[in-house]
Amino acid sequence: MEFKNYNRIKEEILLFQEHHKRKISLIAVSKKQSIEKIHRLINYGHLDFGENYVQEGVDKIKSISNPSIIWHFIGPIQSNKTKLITEYFNWVHSVDRLKIYDRIKNEANSLGKKINFLIQINISKENTKSGININDLDAILDGIDPNDDFVCFRGIMAIPRNTTNINLLKTEFSLLNKAFISLKERFHTVDTLSMGMSNDYLLAMNHGSTMIRVGSKIFGERI
Ligand SMILES: *Cc1c(COP(=O)(O)O)cnc(C)c1O
Repeated sequence: MEFKNYNRIKEEILLFQEHHKRKISLIAVSKKQSIEKIHRLINYGHLDFGENYVQEGVDKIKSISNPSIIWHFIGPIQSNKTKLITEYFNWVHSVDRLKIYDRIKNEANSLGKKINFLIQINISKENTKSGININDLDAILDGIDPNDDFVCFRGIMAIPRNTTNINLLKTEFSLLNKAFISLKERFHTVDTLSMGMSNDYLLAMNHGSTMIRVGSKIFGERI
C-alpha cells in the first residue's frame, strides 16, 4: 500500500472544504484488508475506519485495540448481531428498520455507550441492496427518539447504482441531498450525509456529501 492515493484524497477534501465551506470526513473502508495495512494507515494518522462484516470487524477491533480509532459499521445488519455491533463500533451507517434501531438503542443504553447512527436508503431500488425506499423514510422517523442519551440520529447513508452513467448518479445523489436537507430541518442532531466511494466520491461531494467511504482506492484490491 502506498499513501499516494490517500494523500491525494485528503488534498482534494481540503481544497473542497476551502471552496465550499463544508466539512467532509473520510472513512477508510478496511473490509477484506489486512490488519497490517490498517496499522500502517493508523500510524500515518488516520482514525476513521469502516467495516462491513460483523465478525471480521470485531476481530480486527479487538486485535488493534486502540481507543482512539472510530469504527464505522457499514454492512447489512442481522438483528442477532446488534449486540456485537453496539459493543464494538461507534457509528452504524446501515440501520434499515425500527427493530434494528430499537435493539441498538437498548444495548447502547445498557452499556452506557454512545452510538451515532444513519439510516440507509436504497436509492437505486435494486433488490440486491439493503436500505429503505426513500418514500418510507417518514415511517421510520416516527419511531426514532431524537433525545435518547446514547443513540444519536446523525443522518443518512446510501450506495448509489453501480453505473458509469453520470446523469443517473447525479439524479440519485441529488435526491439524497434533498432528503438530507429536509431531515436537518426536522432533527437538530442531523449533520451527516454518507455517500461517495472510490469511483464517485468527488461527484458525491459536489452533491452535498459530508462523509465519503473509500476502500480500494486507498488500500488497493480486497483480498
Ligand atoms: C465496500 C464499501 C465501500 C468502499 O468501496 P470502494 O469502492 O472500495 O471504495 C463503501 N461503502 C460501503 C457500504 C461498502 O460496502
